[in-house]
Amino acid sequence: TIYLDYQAATPIDPRVLAGMTDAFRRNFANPHATDHFLGRLANDAIEHAAIAIANCVGAFAEDIVFTSGATEANALALTSARSECGFDRHPTIVTCGGDHKSVIDQAHHFGLNVRTIELDSNGAPDIDHASQIIDGETALVSVIGVNNENGAITDLASIGAICAETGTLFHADLSQSLSSVPIDIEAANLSYATLSSQKAYGPKGIGALVVDPKARARLSPLLVGGGQQDGLRGGTMPTELCVGFGIACDLIREERKTESSRLAILRDRLVNGIEAAGWGKLLGDRSNRHPGNALIELFKMSAFDLLSRAQPKIAASTRSSCSSSDEDYSHVLRAMGLGRERAERCVRFSLGRFSDEKQIDEVLATLDGISHDIAERD
Ligand code: PMP
Repeated sequence: TIYLDYQAATPIDPRVLAGMTDAFRRNFANPHATDHFLGRLANDAIEHAAIAIANCVGAFAEDIVFTSGATEANALALTSARSECGFDRHPTIVTCGGDHKSVIDQAHHFGLNVRTIELDSNGAPDIDHASQIIDGETALVSVIGVNNENGAITDLASIGAICAETGTLFHADLSQSLSSVPIDIEAANLSYATLSSQKAYGPKGIGALVVDPKARARLSPLLVGGGQQDGLRGGTMPTELCVGFGIACDLIREERKTESSRLAILRDRLVNGIEAAGWGKLLGDRSNRHPGNALIELFKMSAFDLLSRAQPKIAASTRSSCSSSDEDYSHVLRAMGLGRERAERCVRFSLGRFSDEKQIDEVLATLDGISHDIAERD
């Protein structure tokens, strides 16, 4: 199978796996049992991982709160909106039409009053609209950094500047950004940033919220218990997962720049091949986009039709896997102005670290065969 679903989950990098295997053997002690040497060893391993993660995004190790993944980190960030007014009022949060369900649905679940920034023609939050709806009443702004469906890159610095002017807390979900674009938390004026290991060649089940110390007191823990992580997230920390996430971040810091250029060239090879054959077109711009994302609107077949015929050869996606049980069509494509019929013709190919030219050419050849079959059928 040619794997082109990296935005749903990345395979674990063998270097991460090797480091984790070592941690499973050596760092089994409870990392909070610092009365003994083995506990301290595990604790040091976590500290080391936090430094690697922080270095990747321009933060400090003490700003990292480990979570079970991006969903939990997003939920923890949203607690900052409700804490100011208590539970009986409905503070306002500004999200965007491209946000992940773990922000939008969680905001509703917390009883927040949700305002939504519209998407621009590229599928990123529209900055003019953002400046119109963010105001002194807004408790928190939460936007996606790089979109998981259309790959659009959000102009975080501009939204951060609006938040600075209005004195609003600012959270970005950087799950898809970590492996693909440079991140500078301070320059974007971020109070909180969500990171995910499983989109960055690390293990599943671990993520982090990066917390600006000035905004720390506004958070309330989702899990309480042993008081771990300074009371912000109870529960024994999963040393081995933290170690894996840390190694994944070290690799990203070393390789992101060259890897992003390589991916953009590969992605363009795929898009050019598809467009030249007249099967479909890329939705949105090539610039300001995740270098591995190719969201294609097919002309003559549904994405489901294409992918069923391409099994088991190609693993790509008809929509975000996090909403694949929804009956409705993608809320992101809807926010981009697509009706159901067009949305059902959209397929997301997402490329990553182990994609290469040979695979792309094989995908193009497979698509060629499928298109001919369909043309004959019609
Ligand atoms: N945010 C974004 C932007 C994502 O792409 C995802 C995963 N699709 C999530 C949050 C949720 O991540 P997890 O399921 O690992 O909690």
